[in-house]
Amino acid sequence: MEIKLAREMGFCFGVRRAVEMMEQEAVVGRPIASLGSVVHNPQVVGRLGERGVAVVRSLDEVGERRLAITAHGVGPAVYEEAARRGLEVVDTTCPIVTRAQQWAKRMVEQGFALIVFGDPQHKEVRGILGWAGGKAITLQDEAELDTLPDDLPSKIAVLAQTTHTEAKFTSFIHRLLQRRLHRLSELRVINTLCNATTGQQAAALELAQEVDVMIVVGGRESANTRHLAEICTEAGVPTHHIETAAELDPAWFTPSARVGVTAGASTPDFAIAEVLERLRQIDAELVTSGRREGSPR
Ligand code: SF4
Repeated sequence: MEIKLAREMGFCFGVRRAVEMMEQEAVVGRPIASLGSVVHNPQVVGRLGERGVAVVRSLDEVGERRLAITAHGVGPAVYEEAARRGLEVVDTTCPIVTRAQQWAKRMVEQGFALIVFGDPQHKEVRGILGWAGGKAITLQDEAELDTLPDDLPSKIAVLAQTTHTEAKFTSFIHRLLQRRLHRLSELRVINTLCNATTGQQAAALELAQEVDVMIVVGGRESANTRHLAEICTEAGVPTHHIETAAELDPAWFTPSARVGVTAGASTPDFAIAEVLERLRQIDAELVTSGRREGSPR
């Protein structure tokens, strides 16, 4: 088996920064309550839990602990409520997300109708909507552009969830122009896509075109990991999205298979290392058992 790695994969700078900040703060000895999981990766959350970083769902559960804001960011109401309760805040919001939040605020203040292209349930998007004062419209799919009300202001600003793909955002803008150009006096497209994510997506696509099977490592709840798996699947290569090395199935491989490995921006180095170790074991087992070659499943 030939194992090839994507030239860009794994922890992005924003997630690495958030995890390191929480680890450093937890070392101080006072426990931290993280408002939601620091990243969509159960292994990372588990390790932080051992160091005194607990996950809470609301400010009511924080108690005497310090409150950590995750890399996804939150809306201004959370900061205001934390201040009202006298909570000490450890803010690990990724600077790229902060930039998207500030653009949302600015565009609404300037009288633009703001469209956010993303998943309305995703934490990052909910935070951005908060900075837009609840005045933004969220569209998850470009087909939803056809449902926009006719009486929308003629000045429209658009930004995207940071982990969206370039191809989908481009297509979204294209369709918006096709449908509404005659109603627009001004269109502002704010490129809020994260370079770390788009770089990983390009690297995953490049690798998918060179191999027989792709392994995408990362949390199932991780939007950017799921996008990587989609990109590889759309490239026509059999793709398996796994969270841990234990999920690797030897039946996916043949002794001569070229196996590509990539990982989402929230996937820690140790999870990738465990997957590579298990792949090498499987390779050795396949060679030893002299398994007949066939196409990977
Ligand atoms: S994927 Fe990009 S925006 Fe999200 S945390 Fe990482 S660096 Fe920040």
